[in-house]
Amino acid sequence: MLVKSARFLVAAHTVEQFPEPLKGDVCFAGRSNVGKSTLLNILCNQKLAKVSKTPGKTRTINFYLINERYYFVDLPGYGYAAISKAERQRWKKLIESYFSLRKNEIKLSVLLVDSRLTAQESDKIFVEYCEHYGLNLLIVLSKTDKLSETQLKKVVQYFSDEFGSEVIPYSALNRRGVKEIVERLVKVLE
Ligand code: GDP
Repeated sequence: MLVKSARFLVAAHTVEQFPEPLKGDVCFAGRSNVGKSTLLNILCNQKLAKVSKTPGKTRTINFYLINERYYFVDLPGYGYAAISKAERQRWKKLIESYFSLRKNEIKLSVLLVDSRLTAQESDKIFVEYCEHYGLNLLIVLSKTDKLSETQLKKVVQYFSDEFGSEVIPYSALNRRGVKEIVERLVKVLE
C-alpha cells in the first residue's frame, strides 16, 4: 500500500507557513465540491480532510505528511460563485507562490474535474499554471458513478483532447480508478 502513515501538518495562509521540503510533494486541486477531500481521505485511508457540506470554505494550502517523507498538498478549492474578486486574486497568488517555491518538489499535480461538466475556466487556468511551471499533470474525473459507460467514454476523450494529459476516471462511491491513481502516485514517488 502507498500510504502507511498520514497526518495533517499545517493549514498555510502564507508561504512562510509552508513546511520544509522533504522527498516530494503531490498537490491536489479542483473546484469546490469536486470531491477532493473525499479522494484525499480514500488515499490516506482515514478522515483527514474535511468533506464539505458548504462548498468553498477552504482558503488555505493544507499539508499532509505521508509516510514521514512526502507531502500531499491540498490546494484551496476555487470557482465558488460567492467568493469575491479580491478573494480570487488571493487564491491565484497563493497557488502561484506555492508553484514557484516548490516546483522542484512537486512530483505530480492532480487536477480533479467533475465528469459531468465541461472544462471550466478555472481548470484551464490551473492547467496553464502547471504547463508554465513544467509540472507533471494528472486529470482525475470525479463522480463517474453519475454517468453511463457510453457518456464516460466521450468525456474521457474530451478531457484528454482538452488538456493533453493522462485522464483517470474515478468514483468515490464504487472506487473506480482508485487503484490506477495509487499506481500513478507510487510511480512518481518511489
Ligand atoms: P471538495 O470540496 O472538493 O473537497 O469535495 P468533497 O470531498 O467535500 O465532496 C463534495 C460532495 O461530493 C460530498 O457530498 C461528497 O460526498 C460528494 N462526492 C465526492 N466524491 C464523489 C463521487 O465520486 N461520487 C459521488 N456521487 N459523490 C461524490
